[in-house]
Amino acid sequence: MLATMAVSVTVLASGSKGNCTLVSSSTTRLLIDAGLSCREVMRRLLLCGEDPCAVDAVLVTHEHSDHVGGIRVLARRLKIPIYITDATYQAYQRSMRDANGNRIALDRREHFRSGTRFQVGDISIMPFTIPHDAVDPVGFTLSADGIKIGICTDLGYMPPNVRDHLRGCHMLMIESNHDLELLRGGPYPWSVKQRVMSNVGHLSNDALANFLTSDYDGGAEFLILAHLSEQNNHPEIARTTAERALGDQRSLFLQNRLMLAAQHEPLAAVRL
Ligand SMILES: [Zn+2]
Ligand SMILES: [Zn+2]
Repeated sequence: MLATMAVSVTVLASGSKGNCTLVSSSTTRLLIDAGLSCREVMRRLLLCGEDPCAVDAVLVTHEHSDHVGGIRVLARRLKIPIYITDATYQAYQRSMRDANGNRIALDRREHFRSGTRFQVGDISIMPFTIPHDAVDPVGFTLSADGIKIGICTDLGYMPPNVRDHLRGCHMLMIESNHDLELLRGGPYPWSVKQRVMSNVGHLSNDALANFLTSDYDGGAEFLILAHLSEQNNHPEIARTTAERALGDQRSLFLQNRLMLAAQHEPLAAVRL
């Protein structure tokens, strides 16, 4: 019997002003993070021809507001659970307050642990620890219908465990945050530049290129560059750096298979 290729990935938004990505299998729809307002997430889902009411759950990578800003209202509105680690939930509660200054709680939440596989519908999810200045940040691989997807942004560098988890993916979405020269010469205060460049900051174009040259197995049909800085990067620099790093492997990528996720508009759905 022929397997149905029914996994798709739609990046609704990516960057420091809000992150949200839809991963769909034949029976399950998950959002990875919801850093946009509930209203904006729903608007972008509809724009992409997706029914917001069909979303089954939100998986949270870490507590920074560009990843969790919309989760509470979204979870309430859609009556769906939030999958989050215990430490990330504690940090979320410490930093978020409602209009009256009270701590807020997520009504329906499911706790997962980094390094422990879990299942939502027919999607199997492996969360793995990434180096970032949050309490318990994770990347995810998601597998369904024989397709494996790797999603990994907000990390200061690529340690061996991350490289291992990203092997064998049919689609990779990885951070290509900044160009080092643009960051160094840019408008950020020095302390912020140091934070971004640190081992728990964000992945530079060059660091991603290093991964693509040295560790990438060349197996992905699609590569999405994500979480690009609007201040300290330029889409063409990010694209060119990745293409150069892919070298001979570049031929694996037909024209539209190296894609750049954007902040202000959704990326066309990638179907696998
Ligand atoms: Zn972020
Ligand atoms: Zn972050």
